[in-house]
Amino acid sequence: MPVSLAWPPPPVSAAPQRAEIRLGGDLVGDVDVRVCDVCRRAALEHIRVDAAHRRRGVTREALALVVAWPGYSSSTTVLEPEAEAFWRRVFWPTPELLGTPQWCEHMAEAESALGCE
Ligand SMILES: [Zn+2]
Repeated sequence: MPVSLAWPPPPVSAAPQRAEIRLGGDLVGDVDVRVCDVCRRAALEHIRVDAAHRRRGVTREALALVVAWPGYSSSTTVLEPEAEAFWRRVFWPTPELLGTPQWCEHMAEAESALGCE
């Protein structure tokens, strides 16, 4: 079954948003990410896949979709050593940005606008 992501529009541009990870039509997880279309960067904060669907490539496929935007640089939040080992095993086009979040002023402005500083 194909893995897909369902992206609800963010409340304001560059705000944190949660995409649903779907396997066929079923919701099997979600991913939290901030995307700035001005700076063309994505900062991935968290990914969760239901235990029943782990170790089947779902997480890897979902991540490939997250980082598939052409011309965007994709980073992650700071990683614990165990998490970093996981991330280094999955496809990541900019390994130097693993654990080095590339937040921007627009993402900070979005947080202020939402009152979640
Ligand atoms: Zn920006």
